[in-house]
Amino acid sequence: MTRTDAKNSALVLFSGGQDSATCLAWALDRYDIVETLGFDYGQRHRVELECRDGFRTAIARAFPEWGKRLGDDHMIDLSVLGSISDTAMTREIEIETAATGLPNTFVPGRNLMFMTIAAAIAYRRGLNVLVGGMCETDFSGYPDCRDDTMKALQVALNLGMDSRFVLETPLMWLDKADTWRLARQLGGEELVELVRVETHTCYVGERAELQPWGFGCGECPACKLRKRGYEAYLAGENVTEAPV
Ligand code: ZN
Repeated sequence: MTRTDAKNSALVLFSGGQDSATCLAWALDRYDIVETLGFDYGQRHRVELECRDGFRTAIARAFPEWGKRLGDDHMIDLSVLGSISDTAMTREIEIETAATGLPNTFVPGRNLMFMTIAAAIAYRRGLNVLVGGMCETDFSGYPDCRDDTMKALQVALNLGMDSRFVLETPLMWLDKADTWRLARQLGGEELVELVRVETHTCYVGERAELQPWGFGCGECPACKLRKRGYEAYLAGENVTEAPV
């Protein structure tokens, strides 16, 4: 692999879920070269990773101008994250709120690690913008999704790599209904349909039956949030309460 050194280029953290798929469309709409990055950390919803190729292929086919901009995909094995954390994301345990007030789906350090590795890859590839689907308003309360964390990380990464990366988080202040709206704004109903059918959000990895809002168990916090967001989107409303 060679460096591109393109000025208007981005690396998108792309898990195969609704949020990162919308971020990918957002980036394809803006940057000349867009590469994608995924992590395998032993997540229970590994089926999400299997959606990545399907979504990349589908979006490139449906939007040929974006297809020309879509570059390499990078998959990184981060199984170390599963081995150092004990959470409902990586273990077969019930999803609940821990004594810290955070749900036990919180994987400490995950997004910090993701962005640090993204910066290292972007450095090597000559890409200047890092795009992530972190969001403060999705009720999870994950501290590593906060705007301040991302801003501090941008400073730390640029100091530590003597670089000028820009960290973009287009979903930071959107709720899940707004995220569907953003997809429609970027690529119309065709993109909404791609996100609905080709992405995966369910924490427990259920993908047997297509619901109106996409695939999933319908019961886990991620499914409830996605369902509530989609219904609010259809109704032209916003999501105003937590799903649990
Ligand atoms: Zn689910």
